[in-house]
Formats: sequence, C-alpha cells, structure tokens
Amino acid sequence: MSDCIFCKIANKEMGKLIYEDDQVVAFEDLSPQAPVHVLVIPKKHIARISDVTDGEDACLMGHIMVIANKIAAERGIAEEGYRIVTNCNEGAGQSVWHVHFHLLGGRKLGWPPG
Ligand code: AMP
Repeated sequence: MSDCIFCKIANKEMGKLIYEDDQVVAFEDLSPQAPVHVLVIPKKHIARISDVTDGEDACLMGHIMVIANKIAAERGIAEEGYRIVTNCNEGAGQSVWHVHFHLLGGRKLGWPPG
C-alpha cells in the first residue's frame, strides 16, 4: 500500500531492517519502550490483527511468532522473558495500520498492561 509507512519499511524505501525473509521483516521501534523493542511485520499489507482470517494469513501470523522467538533468542532475552504484543484498533493503542507485533524485553515488564 503506497501510503503505508510499514509497507515502505518492508520495501526498503526507508528505515533499516534487522531481519528479512520472503514473508516477514523486522526492525527496531522508533520509540523503544524497553531495551529490546523490535517490530515484526508481514510484508503483506494487513491493516489489523482482526482482519486475519483462517488459512494463509493465519499461517503467516504463526511464522511471525517463530521469527519473534528467534530474535528474542538472538538478543539474549529468551530465558529471562519477553512479551509479544499486537494492539488492535485505537482503543488498544494501535497507531499504525499495518499489522505489527511488538517484541519487548530486557527489563521487568509489568502486568496488567496500561
Ligand atoms: P502501535 O501503537 O501498537 O500501532 O505501534 C506502532 C509502533 O510503531 C510504535 O511503537 C511506534 O514507535 C512505531 N513506529 C512508528 N513509526 C515508525 C518508524 N518509522 N520506524 C519504526 N517504528 C515506528
């Protein structure tokens, strides 16, 4: 989608990727909320997690979890613990309309979230 900032990052028109495969990219969050704060996104433009249906897109979301786990291990936070979270719609804090998963760790994470 031409006016989507995360599509631009996935297409390497801006930003810097820390991971890429045929389906997924990952990059550092612009405004990190923890020592590790990476965003993992599908290359395919899907506006929000509630738009994901069973089938191909569901597999893609599973693949994103695998990649997030891999990055967590590479960053050395797998043992201590980390969080993978996606915000769906404005009430939950979504501000970019291309589905993305926050990988957060490297500090104690509070629960429940704010
Ligand atoms: P959310 O509020 O859950 O939609 O998360 C959007 C996230 O994208 C926020 O944590 C922002 O800091 C981050 N963000 C916005 N623009 C960029 C960008 N150009 N590069 C990296 N992260 C970004």
